This record gives sequence, structure tokens and C-alpha cells, in this order.
Amino acid sequence: MTSTASHHEQDQFDFVVIGAGPVGELFGHAVAAEGHSIAIVEHRLVGGDCAYYACKPSKALLRPIEVANNTQHLSGVADTTIVADDLLAHRDAKVKHYDDNPQIETLEQAGLTVVRGHARLAGECAVEVHGPDASIRHLRATHGVVVTSGTTPNIPPVFEGVPVWDSKDATAVKDVPTRLLIVGGGPVACEAATWMTALGSKVTMLIRNGELLAGFEPFVSDLLAEQLTQAGVDIHFFTEATQVRRPDGMDMGLGEVKGGPITVRTNTAETFEAEELLLATGRRPDLESLNFESIGLTVDDVLEDRTPDWLHTLGDASGKYRLTHMGKFQARQLVQRLLGKGPTSPDDAAPTTQVVFTDPQVAFVGHTEESAREAGYNVKTAEADFAKVTGATLLRDDVVGRAKIVVDQATNCLLGATLVGPETGEMLHAATIAIAGQVPVDTLKLAVPVFPTASEIWLGLLSKFED
Ligand SMILES: Cc1cc2nc3c(=O)[nH]c(=O)nc-3n(C[C@H](O)[C@H](O)[C@H](O)COP(=O)(O)OP(=O)(O)OC[C@H]3O[C@@H](n4cnc5c(N)ncnc54)[C@H](O)[C@@H]3O)c2cc1C
Repeated sequence: MTSTASHHEQDQFDFVVIGAGPVGELFGHAVAAEGHSIAIVEHRLVGGDCAYYACKPSKALLRPIEVANNTQHLSGVADTTIVADDLLAHRDAKVKHYDDNPQIETLEQAGLTVVRGHARLAGECAVEVHGPDASIRHLRATHGVVVTSGTTPNIPPVFEGVPVWDSKDATAVKDVPTRLLIVGGGPVACEAATWMTALGSKVTMLIRNGELLAGFEPFVSDLLAEQLTQAGVDIHFFTEATQVRRPDGMDMGLGEVKGGPITVRTNTAETFEAEELLLATGRRPDLESLNFESIGLTVDDVLEDRTPDWLHTLGDASGKYRLTHMGKFQARQLVQRLLGKGPTSPDDAAPTTQVVFTDPQVAFVGHTEESAREAGYNVKTAEADFAKVTGATLLRDDVVGRAKIVVDQATNCLLGATLVGPETGEMLHAATIAIAGQVPVDTLKLAVPVFPTASEIWLGLLSKFED
């Protein structure tokens, strides 16, 4: 592949990237480092949702809460409590006060051209950018267009037109509602319930099905529900909104309570009232406004990979992953393929890793028992309790947590691991390496965990499998 960097001034680039989130940025940096010209288009903040409205602010809020909780559950240390204003100021600092200039400078220093505005396709290898000043700029890509436009929230029909919070409001919270209803039971709902409770809201969760974090090992929901309840969260399973009223609702700006109280009637014939409601009902790839019709494609064509060679979709926009690190993995794979830098593995060769930063943390890699069986594996499993591990009991006096591993009977290698407990997010990588490296259980037994650390949970897990 040769670079056409000399055509910059004609708005012709080797690659045009739509969306400057972590995945688009990674692709742009990697390809620019090889001498290619890149235009990267962003209609909101350069750095993407991850940097300002998702991963970073949520973890900036959750980490001090975890530290404070630890002090409250460990004798020999004075209790530390959360100071709401200080916590919000800490969050603001971590999101750089929503100023993306440093991020733009970094991209420009790496040789990328940052274009502000809303991008849409305008035919083969052509992108038009509708700028903030109503201008239209026409970009051409000689090598390819990469779509990394992220996601947009799902809004159940009953909430359409009602001003409520989405995850951006929750991560950017300024005005802490006295009572907060959270609709949903996935990672965003559970994490937001944790930080909003710590900030002082009385949180009630309305969950359509019977579990938190559906899709994880079933014990995760029970354990997490118990801990959230102890923290003061009121959880209602099998509860779905059927009617919503907010007569004085209005958009007051990001993170502000959106008008007067909101009332929700449910399928269980209950009525819930609160000062604010957070919709955490999932997100879908943000592709509808990209004008795929101009190249004869539908959004489904794109999501199902029926695309021409010059068009690539990565990260959340691809619909394959909903995690920053997995999208970045996908981007690194594409760069390697495009630059012809040796063979690449199929995207699904890397086990998916995920941590939900609740208290306790929920860390997961690869398969659950159910998903492994569905994928056709004959499996054996082992479970162990963190409360029986000395190292874990030194982290918290009243440590709560459980771990489960799923092993392929045929190869004796790990297929999946779920670790729920204190700081398990940091422990997960051992399991990830075991899976990616296809290390047999017998070899894993030679990896002796240090006493007294929580990693000794591995001894309990592996001892379930005879030599
Ligand atoms: C509350 C919350 C917490 C999360 N926490 C974590 C976490 O801890 N760890 C983790 O791995 N993942 C987490 N996620 C998921 C993570 O945020 C996403 O996986 C990640 O942001 C995906 O990166 P991306 O580059 O694909 O998209 P994004 O970060 O969404 O970036 C896409 C960018 O494209 C821009 N864009 C879209 N359309 C256009 C257009 N037509 N023209 C110009 N620009 C456009 C958008 O403005 C945006 O800046 C969290 C998500 C939420 C909601």
C-alpha cells in the first residue's frame, strides 16, 4: 500500500475515519505511524463516549467509592466517607472538564487531520462532513473508509418523548436527584446504581427479567443483588414500565434533573415516583444517519458484513463488541491486515474480557458454562468461595465473592472464568492468559499463587480437577 499524503489539500486521504472514539483514534494512530494520510471526523468530542461519558467518568466515580467502602469494611482504619462535591470534581478532572483540545493536539501531532462535523457517506469512498457552521466538506478516501461511530441508546416506546436520563447524564451527573429510578439491570445500570447511591440518591431498580447482569454465570446476580440491597438499593425483578408521566419534564442540560417528578406505572400494578429516571436499556450501533443508501447498502448489510472491501466497521459500531478494549483489539487486527503485516487470527480468536466495577467487582472472560455448552463443548466446572481464601479476607473483613471456571473436557484447557470479589478486575488477566495461551489445567497447577493473596482462589478452583 502506498501513501497519497501529498493530496491532503484536495481533501483526499488514504483513509477517512468516521468517529474519534478510542477505536477510531487507535486505527488512525496506527495507520498514520506507517505514513498514511488520515482524516478523522468527529461531531461531538474527540476522544469519544468512552473518554467523556462512559468508561472514564464511570470509573472515576466508582474507584473512590470502592476505596471508601473498603475502609468501612476493614478494622484498624478510620472510616472514609464520600464527599459528593469532591467526587464530582474528581470526575470532572478525569474527563478534562469536557475539553477535547489536548486530544485533538495529540492526533494532529501524530499527523492526522481532525475534521469537526457530522459525517455521512456520499457514494463509493466518499464522505461528506456537515460542519458546525453549516458548511459541507467533501472527503475522498483512496484506501478505505472506517466507521467507528459508536452507539446510541435504545429507548423503549413507553419512554419516547419523555425527558429522562441516559447513561451520559448519569456519568455527567451534576444535580443528584433525591430519588432515582433505574430501568435496566445490565452493567451500566448496576454501576450507576452503585455511584448514585454513594452520591446520596435513593435508588430503585426496575428490571424486566429475573436477574442482574443477564448472560453472566447465574450466581453473579444473586451475589450482586444482595450487595446492592445492603448498600440501600431497592431492586424489583420482573417489573416493566407500562405508563410513564412527567408533566413538567424539560431538558435542563446534561447531568441535570430534567424537570418535575416522574411517575411510572408497571406491569406489576405498582406506581413508582422519583425526581429522575435513568434509562439503562441498552445501546445499538449508531449507523442510521450514515447514509449507507448512497452505496446501495442497509444498516443490516453493514452489521452482517455484506460490505465492499473499502468499507470497514469497528468497535461498538460493528455490533460485535460493546467494550473499548475489544474494539481496540479489532482495530489492531484490521491495521495488521491492511498493512499486510503477517497473518492475523480471526477476530473471535481472542476471548472477550469484561469487568463490571460494582462492589464486589464482576470480572469475566471467555465462556460461561451455558455459553460453552451452547457452543458445543463438553465441559467440567469448578467453583470456589473468596471468603475461604486468607488473602481475600485480608482485603476486606467481611469479604464476599465467588469464582467459577469452565474447562473443556477434550483439551483440559480453560474456556471461561468468572470472578466476583474484591479487586477481581485486576486478577482477571491470569485467566485471560490461560485461555488465550490454551494452558492445560495440569500446567496451570504449576503457577503457584502467592500467600496471602486473593489469587489463591486458583488453588481451590484447580484442586477440583484430579491429576
Ligand atoms: C456508562 C458506560 C460505562 C462503560 N464502561 C466501560 C468500561 O469500563 N470498559 C469498557 O471497555 N467499556 C465500557 N463501556 C463501553 C465503551 O464506552 C464503548 O465500548 C466504547 O466507547 C466504544 O468505543 P468506540 O470508539 O467504538 O465508540 P465511542 O467511544 O462511542 O466513539 C464514537 C464516536 O463517534 C462519534 N460519531 C458518531 N457518529 C458520527 C458521525 N456521523 N460523524 C462524526 N462523528 C460521529 C461520536 O460522537 C463518538 O465520539 C461503557 C459504556 C457506558 C455507556
